Amino acid sequence: MVTNKMTDNANNNRVALITGATSGIGKAIAETFAKAGYKLAINGFGEKSGIDQVLAELKKAGAPQAVYIASDMGKAADVEQLIASTNEQLGSLDVLVNNAGIQHTDNIEDFPPEKWDQVIAINLTAAFHTIRLSVPLMKARNFGRIINIASVHGLVGSCQKSAYVASKHGLVGMTKVVALELAETGITCNAVCPGWVLTPLVEKQVAAIAERDKINYEAAVHKLVSEKQPSNKFVEQAELGALCLFLASDAARSITGVSLPIDGGWTAR
Ligand code: NAD
Repeated sequence: MVTNKMTDNANNNRVALITGATSGIGKAIAETFAKAGYKLAINGFGEKSGIDQVLAELKKAGAPQAVYIASDMGKAADVEQLIASTNEQLGSLDVLVNNAGIQHTDNIEDFPPEKWDQVIAINLTAAFHTIRLSVPLMKARNFGRIINIASVHGLVGSCQKSAYVASKHGLVGMTKVVALELAETGITCNAVCPGWVLTPLVEKQVAAIAERDKINYEAAVHKLVSEKQPSNKFVEQAELGALCLFLASDAARSITGVSLPIDGGWTAR
């Protein structure tokens, strides 16, 4: 019989590392895991006061421990330190959420090569490093949940997003390989593929449309969302948290290697 084990996780005091959790989707996922009683490690950029506030909110929400580990996901040595420090400070690493990500938009012929390198480094190569370093820790306990925040752009393309789409398709591909390699263990690896979610990353794209088309903010939001997302509304950040929490649960042990759209119908077209 399948029981709801999500509450059991709270008793287990499992440890979740969520990258890029100082803002947007990562922060919302961290809040959901805090409410479920996970110990949390986070990283991401931001002012010290803002980061302290995030940690305080996570503890208030229910995280028995919440630590911030400064690390630039574009630097392999930093990622190595992030994984080691999570394990040392919190005593385990049970759930890895690869969320940190960046965007750059330009037509292919105008795309700055250094922007290509940055997008691939943060969105794809960083996840390679976190996964390769986490798997031995997870194997030692025969439990692990690897959740890669990809995108609908891991499944379909859009103009001016060559690096982002390549990085997210790469992440979806790596998810399948990791799932296959670990299929007989207690470790799963899945990708989550959100459509439009209103976060600072998307705010920049709304602002760019408003400026380009000389329209106001509301009109730019409508233009952005309605072009691709049949629901005509943003996916809420909390929906991402709930989906990740389920994928981390014991009940999701047989779900591995999937790339799950949460996109208001975008990829159904
Ligand atoms: P965001 O810009 O609000 O947050 C990104 C987070 O990543 C921040 O905490 C930032 O500090 C961190 N980060 C960026 N570069 C980093 C680096 N080098 N080292 C450490 N941390 C770094 O963005 P978001 O919209 O919340 O996006 C989160 C993830 O969701 C990304 O992977 C993004 O591609 C994906 N996603 C977002 C949407 C959307 O509509 N917002 C849709 C699909 C997928």
